[in-house]
Amino acid sequence: MEVRDGKACGDPVTLTSMPEILTQSKSFLSSKVAHFTESVIREMTRQAMQYGAVNLAQGFPDFPAPREIKEAAQEAIAGDINQYAITWGAKNLRDAIARQMQEWQGITVDPERELTVCCGSTEAIVSTLLAVCNAGDEVIIFEPFYENYGPDSIISGARPRFVKLRPPEAPEGEWTFDSRELRSAFHNNAKAIVVNTPNNPTGKVFTRAELELIRDLCVEFNVLAITDEIYEHILYDGTKHVSIASLDGMRERTVTINGMSKTYAVTGWRVGWTVAPPEITNAIRKVHDFLTVGAPAPLQEAGATALSLPPSYYQQLAEGYRRRRDRLVPALIKAGFRCFRPRGAYYVMTDITGFGFPDDVAFTQYLVKEIGVAAVPGSSFYNDPRDGAQQVRFAFCKRDETLDEAARRLGGLRHGS
Ligand code: GLN
Repeated sequence: MEVRDGKACGDPVTLTSMPEILTQSKSFLSSKVAHFTESVIREMTRQAMQYGAVNLAQGFPDFPAPREIKEAAQEAIAGDINQYAITWGAKNLRDAIARQMQEWQGITVDPERELTVCCGSTEAIVSTLLAVCNAGDEVIIFEPFYENYGPDSIISGARPRFVKLRPPEAPEGEWTFDSRELRSAFHNNAKAIVVNTPNNPTGKVFTRAELELIRDLCVEFNVLAITDEIYEHILYDGTKHVSIASLDGMRERTVTINGMSKTYAVTGWRVGWTVAPPEITNAIRKVHDFLTVGAPAPLQEAGATALSLPPSYYQQLAEGYRRRRDRLVPALIKAGFRCFRPRGAYYVMTDITGFGFPDDVAFTQYLVKEIGVAAVPGSSFYNDPRDGAQQVRFAFCKRDETLDEAARRLGGLRHGS
């Protein structure tokens, strides 16, 4: 269409000239968006603010980011790194990520051809799915799942297919999956499997044996692994993080996703990345380029500083979260929750059966309005809300004072109330 003086020219198409049937049946909305709601996690943060509740809902730290990183960001801005970085990421940051992948996971990465820096791991995941999925493809997702994965699959035109993680019987037990159920999800239409380890919301850390089983199925059925490793450094009780890309046969069929948010307490910076073989990286870069052009340039520079922090930083990080876990979990148990002890990440899934509420949404509404604590209803992590109707997730990435105040308020809950 020709444009002159800011106006479109050519045959005018007016509403009155359109067939009536078209004007009546045409919706302005994509049918995709009918299949999902806004994030409940982020909605609970808004409610926490509205009701003055302690926010143990959304997983962002309420303590400061490391001083060195903040200074590096200030210096980058003052030093005039204020224009676009290279679309797929500032060289300093890509080099630092490649170095860290080598050091931590023994995975050799070519920063020129295998890395894409995105606006948070959130964009990294959706750009990856957009880059690899076609209509009709299925994406296998362990359930309960971080709520973005469902809408992300739908936005990319794929269909999510869920495989259950089953809660432990005993509080110290582990979440497990049935290998036959997993196998039955792999078939010709399966394009990818999303693996999030350490896991949100369960705190499960997938074992090497479990990841090898997933690896065997990916190889047998020619399926891609998309692995969200954003909680890589947040591990408890001697658990070890294994990157699925480090397993034999997986390097060429894995997109590893990570980011700065959780490791460096900068969730608002929106700096994440993908590591993938060159051909897949090329596709991800194209999507990423047209979606966002690039992640914030000065914050990428600060990212290079962050990724150069010494090993002691990561030890203190894990130890700090272990202390927070061990502060909140006993308080929750005392208040009447059954807790599934997390082995990694910074969430605890709880069972609320003891309180006698009809469902998780009624319970979290009572909690945020009457008790003054915000948590996430378990149903937001399940495809069928009934599966999470007696579960609630708490985040413990908070200061001691915050956790203690939440504990004090939760003391006001009565069992069977
Ligand atoms: N990962 C965090 C959570 O699960 C928040 C993520 C987000 O809101 N983007 O609470």
